[in-house]
Amino acid sequence: MARYTQPVCKLCRRENQKLFLKGSRCSSAKCALERRAYPPGHRDSGRRRKVSEYGLQLREKQKVRRTYGLLEQQFFLNYLRATSMRGITGENLLSLLERRLDNVVYRLGFAPSRATARQLVHHRHFLVNGKVTNIPSFILRPGDTVVVREKSRKLDIIHSALKDAGPGTDIPWLRLDKVHLEGELLEMPKRADIPTVAQEQQIVELYSK
Ligand code: SF4
Repeated sequence: MARYTQPVCKLCRRENQKLFLKGSRCSSAKCALERRAYPPGHRDSGRRRKVSEYGLQLREKQKVRRTYGLLEQQFFLNYLRATSMRGITGENLLSLLERRLDNVVYRLGFAPSRATARQLVHHRHFLVNGKVTNIPSFILRPGDTVVVREKSRKLDIIHSALKDAGPGTDIPWLRLDKVHLEGELLEMPKRADIPTVAQEQQIVELYSK
């Protein structure tokens, strides 16, 4: 599957917001945004250009797309799916992105970043509802379980990620059992319970033009 392979810190600097793409480094003083809080290729001159409405909508879309590590077409397919669901399209979109298997693995704390979570899923380290699943874009539903496979239970990367983060513990729509390396999606995530900082309505307006 195609994926972004350039330096990811540039993406945060471009959006002027932490997108948390590099695991524990993002919370440390080594974060590139802490040291160079200006867009790549520009020294901060102090001047601010006026940004058009389209520009604002585009930046919002890019920010969310990059946060979840999707290419344009994959992101747009999620948007199309969100438009066909009941409810508010922007919230549906975030709900779909949150319920992706790679994101749930990351939120549960089995991986330090979404990129690592995607790789672990690709490498068949997880069971979804008892079956090996290696599709990062698999959308989970309430009641679905994600379990680390027996043969993968000693992987250092999973244990160190759980030790460092454990973000699943404070996400109300997820249940994490650290002892059995098992998680469950309890309910559809509500917007208030999705930690992603975004104005999803701007994305809907961009695609509605
Ligand atoms: Fe973004 Fe993390 Fe890089 Fe900081 S360290 S710029 S949050 S990817």
